[in-house]
Amino acid sequence: MEGETCRVCGGDGRVGNAFGGSSATCPSCHGSGRRAEASSGFHDVTKTKPSHHRPAVTVSTGPRGPATSEGLQLAQEVNASTVLAADAKTRLIAEIVNHESTHGRCTKTFIKKVRKQARPAG
Ligand SMILES: [Zn+2]
Repeated sequence: MEGETCRVCGGDGRVGNAFGGSSATCPSCHGSGRRAEASSGFHDVTKTKPSHHRPAVTVSTGPRGPATSEGLQLAQEVNASTVLAADAKTRLIAEIVNHESTHGRCTKTFIKKVRKQARPAG
């Protein structure tokens, strides 16, 4: 029975050191080559600076989705579209999320662009 292979070292428990040329014990699995227990979490107790305390944000547990009301509205329109295939909808919604993360909101031009694709031509 194999546990999950550590993704940091690829399972050999050691990571290469680009500077020293030697390998060091993998900090992630501590040399076991397997991923740490998922439930144990990854608490870094050395970080005590207040700047590391993130404000309480509502994290959606569902699939990644738009955060702004315009984005949500747009995603709904995309989902309701009768001309788009499922993969095209997924791609457009990903574009909305991406656009929001770079622009902070959905620009009018972007909304128009997405709507054009979501609506039947003509
Ligand atoms: Zn490892």
